[in-house]
Amino acid sequence: MIKPDLDTGIRYLKGVGEKRAELFLKLGISTVRDLLNYFPRDYEDRRAILSISGLKAGDKACVNAYISSNIKTRTPRRGFSVSEFRAVDESGGIDIVFFNQKYSVDKLRTGERYIFFGKVEERGGRLCMTNPTYEPEEESGQKTGKILPIYALTAGLSADVLRNAVRMALAEFSQSIPEVIPDEIRRRHKLAHVGYSYREIHFPSTYEELEIAKRRLVFEELFVLSLGLMHLRERRDKEVGTAVKDADFSPFLASLPFEMTGAQLRVVSEIAKDMQSVRPMNRIVQGDVGSGKTAVAAAAAFIAHKNGLQSALMVPTEILAEQHFESLSQQLEKLGMRCALLCGSMKASEKKKIKVLCKENEIDMLIGTHAIISEDVEFSKLGLMIVDEQHRFGVRQRAALASKGNNPHQLVMSATPIPRSLALIMYGDLDISVIDELPPGRLPVDTLIVNDAKRADAYEFIKKQLDAGHQAYIVCPLIEDSEESEGELRSVEKFAEELSETVFAGKKTEFLHGKLKQKDKDAVMRRFVSGETSAIVSTTVIEVGVNVPNATVMAIENSERFGLSQLHQLRGRVGRGSAKSYCILFSNVSKSSAAAERLQALRKTGDGFKISEEDLRLRGPGDFFGTRQHGLPELKIASFMSDMRVLDIAKSEATRIAEEDRALKNPEYKQLRERIRAMFDVSESGNSFN
Ligand code: ADP
Ligand code: MG
Repeated sequence: MIKPDLDTGIRYLKGVGEKRAELFLKLGISTVRDLLNYFPRDYEDRRAILSISGLKAGDKACVNAYISSNIKTRTPRRGFSVSEFRAVDESGGIDIVFFNQKYSVDKLRTGERYIFFGKVEERGGRLCMTNPTYEPEEESGQKTGKILPIYALTAGLSADVLRNAVRMALAEFSQSIPEVIPDEIRRRHKLAHVGYSYREIHFPSTYEELEIAKRRLVFEELFVLSLGLMHLRERRDKEVGTAVKDADFSPFLASLPFEMTGAQLRVVSEIAKDMQSVRPMNRIVQGDVGSGKTAVAAAAAFIAHKNGLQSALMVPTEILAEQHFESLSQQLEKLGMRCALLCGSMKASEKKKIKVLCKENEIDMLIGTHAIISEDVEFSKLGLMIVDEQHRFGVRQRAALASKGNNPHQLVMSATPIPRSLALIMYGDLDISVIDELPPGRLPVDTLIVNDAKRADAYEFIKKQLDAGHQAYIVCPLIEDSEESEGELRSVEKFAEELSETVFAGKKTEFLHGKLKQKDKDAVMRRFVSGETSAIVSTTVIEVGVNVPNATVMAIENSERFGLSQLHQLRGRVGRGSAKSYCILFSNVSKSSAAAERLQALRKTGDGFKISEEDLRLRGPGDFFGTRQHGLPELKIASFMSDMRVLDIAKSEATRIAEEDRALKNPEYKQLRERIRAMFDVSESGNSFN
């Protein structure tokens, strides 16, 4: 018989049959390895065993008690049973109630001692526990008296079944999980051994040990990913595209109505240099909102055009496509470039016309939504593709656009500037350019934090802005009037109605949220862009790149619920015209709280880089990883448990190893090499691993 290993299917584990295996599969678990890598999303501390007399309503705790009464089961309705009894310890007694748990209750015996774990409630002056977890005292230690993992579950698969499976897998396999971190690195950074870390991450002995395990596993994930990305990059270096001969962009600069900033010029030069190589460009431009990324992209399109190549610009929404088309076509036509717009909602005949022109090389720059990746769009010579607001697109969409040319140069643009070490992980194998300077003469946006006492005044102030002919955005964190929104949370539809009937009476106020059809969203946005609508109440769907220079107020309800970088993005929607603009952050958090500290950080600076660094310091990179590009291996643990220091160390150790021993030939790196090969499937690429 073959010796079972980590790749053994989980049906090997006792208690996992065909049916359960299917449920596990729904969680993405098919092998023992998958199961061990299915990390808890949280923990429950069940260590405290309290005396009953010391309990109070609201406690979640274990008690060690005898069942002192008969167990009475009633069936008030068909299919509904209630079992009740009393349990006592040396200090007092508590009522225990089970609903519909006949199977479980049948195992209990009067006069025996059990550990019960549950939430303590008070009913008619008596303490009680409903549906507690229990274990006979002599068998305790599995479900009680410990810190227990909480896993994301699926219908039909209980927490107990999952925990038991993990427990069995750990008992049999935790010794055979390969150690991929070289000993020397492990020692240098005080990283725990792999088997220990897996045991402690699932069933921590203490919270301190849990931290030790997390740190090691996060390090491992980031370390392996960093090395893998270096290999991806190496593979990419071997691709062949079209090198441009003439990269002189001075005619483009001369046609601009403004002087490019130093940062813009530097980035355009980086792009020009990339495009002169047969190795296709694969670059991300990070620049704060308003830093002038569009002009940089246009310069790249100009270079492509001068060399007889077509460009494509893909953006996430129709409004944005229209705005880009308007400003770019005006400018590029002066230079003899033919621009066209392609969006899903255009008339079929129009779309057809554009497609024919594009195929026949009668269009130099095609601007559009993801409509431009549909199958029947063809280019004659696509040499450059640009993706704006990259976080809205996946790698697959980018690949679909790229496949319309012969390894075209690729440029992606992001408005969320992040520190370099994190960018290297998030953007994988892309080269990174940064526009770290804003065009001169921008009026800074005044940022105010407003609590309930001043709300009414703030809305009066906004109304005055509307009276003066300006426009305002009001952003709320929730879409529907859900339960949570009761009380202080403002929901979009209701709130828009309320405002238009009160302070904003006589002004056209509309609402916008993600549940509206795209067509309706676009219509609402168009009316706002045209100035027909004065105020728009919205969720964060307006976050992305639209330009309404006449809007002077960005008011954000429950602002403490948003991430700093997100708030900064929202704020970037105003301050785009010549009038003074305001960002009003509504929040009732107390002045000393961490949330207040975050909002203050936003008030003090308008620099997106500083803000994202602050965000990272205060919250860790979890939110950024959340918007990480698809296509790269998923981060299972680093995404929600890491801290920036671990990231920096992992990255620098990976770089050091790669510099010393690029192909990881040292026998000490055998496990590491295999892991990377499995992760990126690099064996087929004919790179240095073979
Ligand atoms: P973003 O980086 O957010 O995409 P845009 O490219 O939309 O920014 O630019 C914002 C505005 O700044 C536009 O109106 C653009 O014309 C203007 N702009 C860009 N670069 C400069 C510059 N160097 N000097 C003055 N205005 C500029
Ligand atoms: Mg932009």
